Amino acid sequence: MASSLLHPSGPEIRTLPDVLRLRDATEPDTTAYVFLRDGEEPEETLTFRQLHDAATARAARFAALGLTGQRAVLLYPSGLEFIRTLLGCMSARVASAPMQVPRRRDGLARLRRIADDARTTTVLTTLAVKTDLESRFGDAPELAGLALVATDDAPSAPPPPDWGAVAPGPDDIALLQYTSGSTGDPKGVVVTHRHFMHNARETDELWPFAPDGKVVNWLPLFHDMGMLFGVVLPLWAGVPSFLMAPESFIRRPARWLEAIARFGGTHSAAPSFAYELCVRAAAEGGTGAVGDLSRWRVAANGAEPVRWGTLTSFVEAFTPHGFSAEAMCPGYGLAENTLKVTGSSQHRPPKVLWVDPGALADGVVTLADGPRVDPVPAVSCGATVPSTTVRIVDPTSRAQCPPGRVGEIWVSGPCVAGGYWGRQELSEESFRARLLDDPDTPHLRTGDLGFLHDGELYVTGRLKDVIIRKGRNHYPQDIEESAEQAVPGLHPNCAAAFSVDDGTSERLVVLIEVDGRVLRSPGLAAARELVRAAIWEKHRLEADEILMLRRGALSKTSSGKVQRRACRRRYEEGTLVALPVNAVPTTGAH
Ligand code: ATP
Ligand code: MG
Repeated sequence: MASSLLHPSGPEIRTLPDVLRLRDATEPDTTAYVFLRDGEEPEETLTFRQLHDAATARAARFAALGLTGQRAVLLYPSGLEFIRTLLGCMSARVASAPMQVPRRRDGLARLRRIADDARTTTVLTTLAVKTDLESRFGDAPELAGLALVATDDAPSAPPPPDWGAVAPGPDDIALLQYTSGSTGDPKGVVVTHRHFMHNARETDELWPFAPDGKVVNWLPLFHDMGMLFGVVLPLWAGVPSFLMAPESFIRRPARWLEAIARFGGTHSAAPSFAYELCVRAAAEGGTGAVGDLSRWRVAANGAEPVRWGTLTSFVEAFTPHGFSAEAMCPGYGLAENTLKVTGSSQHRPPKVLWVDPGALADGVVTLADGPRVDPVPAVSCGATVPSTTVRIVDPTSRAQCPPGRVGEIWVSGPCVAGGYWGRQELSEESFRARLLDDPDTPHLRTGDLGFLHDGELYVTGRLKDVIIRKGRNHYPQDIEESAEQAVPGLHPNCAAAFSVDDGTSERLVVLIEVDGRVLRSPGLAAARELVRAAIWEKHRLEADEILMLRRGALSKTSSGKVQRRACRRRYEEGTLVALPVNAVPTTGAH
């Protein structure tokens, strides 16, 4: 494999297709992407030349279809056809809106919503997906009027020289990145080439690739973190990316680590729950053969709250495999900032502050060294690189918070995306917010709460999800973590905590998914009491209602995040089916 050309630069390199053209010209035979069948064996490989040619052929076809300047939904399973089409869209100046391939009717409804929101009727996909959708849902009203176009139905012929390409510019839309939908309907974040180039450069500045750099990625490619880590960053840096389907990881988490060891992955990212699944696999003896993890230099950890217990257990479990604590790099990001906002250095172990939970509930950060408090961990998500600035702001007055206070995280810099597609008013509020004390600089309001300490960001939770009891703020994810840990055999991300206003008071409701293991032992009634006791013990909160649900019953995003507001709505509508707490084990909530 030829050595890579790191740091593409120069006035002529302003878009991702420019980067691809450069790599095609200078290192055509270097491996760009590899797809691993079942997360294990290389099944298909693309060199830069192959990717460039395939993308150009697709671009010519999209232009001939009249898609230039339009949008298209991209419906692809994880794999290289997605990447060929994505780059083809970019070259033809088609703004792509990738999403998960629908498996059921609710997925179809989501497809329809996204297509309507993006104002397109074009859905690019594979022949296999097109055939499957048409045979299963051919008559579904959700598909009516949508044109499903297979991009892999014929070998791609070289485009005619006069196909009329007008190369994209830095301000052309590269992507409509739909947010995960954790707090509501997904919104299409407008990401231009300029944003991608800046975020890739910033991420490389923080977590640089050396010439031996390699990415291993199982995150869904339609999600912002999978898109940046799996697709954009490797292309930008000229390092190979080894991709596997999310299902391959979920079925056997050790595959992720095995691929890192086998292919020499230096950079790989995942949310905290994925590291937790690996810890559990290790505890069950399933990771003995993962191999050498010593080349893994950046294990980015973000997209959801970073749990300190998971970090330390992961480091402990995988130190014998050569994993170093320095490689564990918590980070914070969101689609509205293209992806990364802050990240922790790869040259020191992750940093934790132990804080007084009582003060934190009042929005005050008090380092807990006194004997009377039982401190809780706050994990640092690191700092920004200098082109981006983070401020902590009182969401009501819009004044900056004094040091040591929790407030809303506001971001300014070159990675703040253009807005939400088609939602001007919301975009003004969210992407061009004005600080009381610095009204000239537009800021992105993230809707997340956190604080700064020694220049590093600590994320405490989402503003919309905060549970207020007796005037104090409680973060649902802390309550959920306590609940999950209270009962042996519960899965990560199996709980949802929210408050419900019954007209007279706020009630705390906790939903827990259980499977057959918990049903058998300790049983539902005992599990419920363990959860109740842990929430009282750790948070001094009385849970008004704890409902036990079948596994899979919680509303979650396609990236696996719990949708608390959707759960609350179903609770209020009475459409959640709780398991009877005196259920006999054989009712099998598998
Ligand atoms: P939606 O915006 O549709 O409700 P979403 O916010 O989950 O969905 P993403 O842009 O994929 O969509 O995720 C970004 C969000 O993930 C952040 O706003 C934040 O709430 C959460 N997040 C990311 N990194 C961290 C972190 N290190 N700690 C806590 N939360 C994080
Ligand atoms: Mg969001």
